[in-house]
Amino acid sequence: MVARVTRILCVGVDAGASASAVSLASRIGGEKMPAVWASVGIHPNYAHQERPGDWESIVALTTNSHVGGSRVCALGETGLDRYWDDCPFEVQKKNFTRHWELSRSTGLPVIIHSRDCDAEMLDALRNEYKHGELRGVMHSFSSTLEVALECVAMGLYISFSGMLTYKKNDVLRDVAAKIPEDRLLVETDCPYLSPEPKRATRPNEPSLMVHTGEVLGKVRGWTIAETAERTTANALRLFSKMR
Ligand SMILES: [Zn+2]
Repeated sequence: MVARVTRILCVGVDAGASASAVSLASRIGGEKMPAVWASVGIHPNYAHQERPGDWESIVALTTNSHVGGSRVCALGETGLDRYWDDCPFEVQKKNFTRHWELSRSTGLPVIIHSRDCDAEMLDALRNEYKHGELRGVMHSFSSTLEVALECVAMGLYISFSGMLTYKKNDVLRDVAAKIPEDRLLVETDCPYLSPEPKRATRPNEPSLMVHTGEVLGKVRGWTIAETAERTTANALRLFSKMR
C-alpha cells in the first residue's frame, strides 16, 4: 500500500528535543515532500528535569523571529501522567497550565498527553475551558467514550495511534466510531505503537499510518481515500500553520 505522506509533525518533549524538532522542520520544509513541522513543549515525564531557561527557550521557539519559528505549529506534547509517575504531580500540573497560557497568547494548539489520570485531566481541562474553547488534541487516545466526548465538547480533537489496530482493542474502535468525524486524527506516537500488521516494526514511522487509517476507515465505513481526506482536513484545521 502506498502511504503518500505529505506532512510530518515532529513533536518535542523538552527544551533540547524541541529545538531539534524546529531545526529539522526548518531544514525539511517548503518545496520538499513530505514537509516536516515542529511542536515545542515539555512532556510531563520530563518536567522535573527542567533547567533554568528551558521554558524561556521554548517560548522563544514559538516566535516567528526565531530561525525555524514559522515552522512551529503546535505546543507540547505536554499533559499529565500517573502511569510513570517520574515527576511530582504538582510539577506536572503547573507545567501543563503554562502551556495553555502560551496557547492563548500564541494561538497555537496543544498536543495533550494523558495517561492513567482521567479525572485529574478532565479537571485541568475544565479549568482551562473557563477561558474559552480549547485548541488542541488528546494524543494517542486510550480512554473511554465518555472522556472523549467531554473533550470534544470543550473543542478538542481525538487522535488515534496504532493501538486502534490491536486485536483486543474493540473498546477503542467503538470510541473511534462515535467521535464526530471532524475531530478525528491519526498519529504514530513513534517510536512505539506500530500498527498491525507491522506491530513488531521499530521505530514506528509516518508511512505506517496508512494501516491505522485503514482501521479507522473500517469502523467509520469510509474508503482509505475518504479517511485520508478527512483526517488530513482535520489536521490542517487544527494545526493551521501547516497549510
Ligand atoms: Zn504522549
